[in-house]
Amino acid sequence: MRALTVTPGEKDSLKLRDVPEPATGEGEVLVEALAVGLCGTDSEIIGAEYGEAPPGQDYLVLGHENLGRVLDAAPASGLAKGDLVVGIVRRPDPEPCKACAAGEWDMCLNGNYTEHGIKGLDGFARERWRADGEAMVKVDPGLEDVGVLLEPTTIVAKAWEQINRIGQRAFFDPHTAVVTGAGPVGLLAALLGVQQGLDVHVFDIVTDGPKPDLVHDLGATYHSEPLPESGIKPNILVECTGVTPVVLDALKCRAQDAVTCLTGVSGTGKQTKVDVGALNREEVLMNGVVFGSVNANRRHYDAGAQALAKADRDWLRRLINRRLPLANFAEAFKRQTDDVKVVLDVTRGTDGNPSHE
Ligand SMILES: [Zn+2]
Ligand SMILES: [Zn+2]
Repeated sequence: MRALTVTPGEKDSLKLRDVPEPATGEGEVLVEALAVGLCGTDSEIIGAEYGEAPPGQDYLVLGHENLGRVLDAAPASGLAKGDLVVGIVRRPDPEPCKACAAGEWDMCLNGNYTEHGIKGLDGFARERWRADGEAMVKVDPGLEDVGVLLEPTTIVAKAWEQINRIGQRAFFDPHTAVVTGAGPVGLLAALLGVQQGLDVHVFDIVTDGPKPDLVHDLGATYHSEPLPESGIKPNILVECTGVTPVVLDALKCRAQDAVTCLTGVSGTGKQTKVDVGALNREEVLMNGVVFGSVNANRRHYDAGAQALAKADRDWLRRLINRRLPLANFAEAFKRQTDDVKVVLDVTRGTDGNPSHE
């Protein structure tokens, strides 16, 4: 069967290759891959910045954002043929550390976890894959065309869960939330904020393209000016860019007792002059909390699946602005100005017909 693979450590080694059917040892549930979403992590793996092949294999099947349909499942898995499922990207480390043992592999303490399509486990950009029932979540059958958005949604589902848990440390009655960055993660963060009844403001630099309308149609407010110029002082801030001047603005513009969640992974090595005294002073005097959040565990997949099921299906569909057959992977990875989320359709060959018999 066909799979989209890279040779980790080798730049631009991305190619389609024939790979063996998934071994039964990979899990009790056999899944037909439907779609794989692309993101910056995939580009970094293609650029050989990281990525690790499974032990004893010289290539890694790419793809972590995924959607599939069960072809065959052991009854004990709780899944049945035809179920729509999403594979959980990170799996607990084999040791396991205390966090992994508690089912919170997103908080893994020793870094020995594995990740499908990223670290030590083949990804989902192959025609069929296997995993155990506990390593996937069933999603609403109506989400067939947008369920591939679940993985990025889990990232913000975790962020919001943690924000609300941190808020509970004291009196907490948030009404205004700011999201910086209107990429897929920022837009999904805004969706979850609106679903909680918050007045959500999304900041990005573009003035046209699909992003302002997507924010508006969510019932949130779009801003192309920098956060400090807006005068908005949010109770909650979700930073989704990792761009250092934006991160700094996010640390400076908040209401009293606010919670700020950082989700963007910044590049390193560039120096910025910062008045640490002023930052510290403000943090202390405003009871500020700034925390980082990455990855997601099963609880967040469940929360994300619920959020998607409640969301407007057409709005979610608009997040996926390009959907290409697996064979057109090179074109898919060529970034276009209006891209929000680009998805590879694993069931289609180049001609738009099903690729396997
Ligand atoms: Zn991703
Ligand atoms: Zn662990």
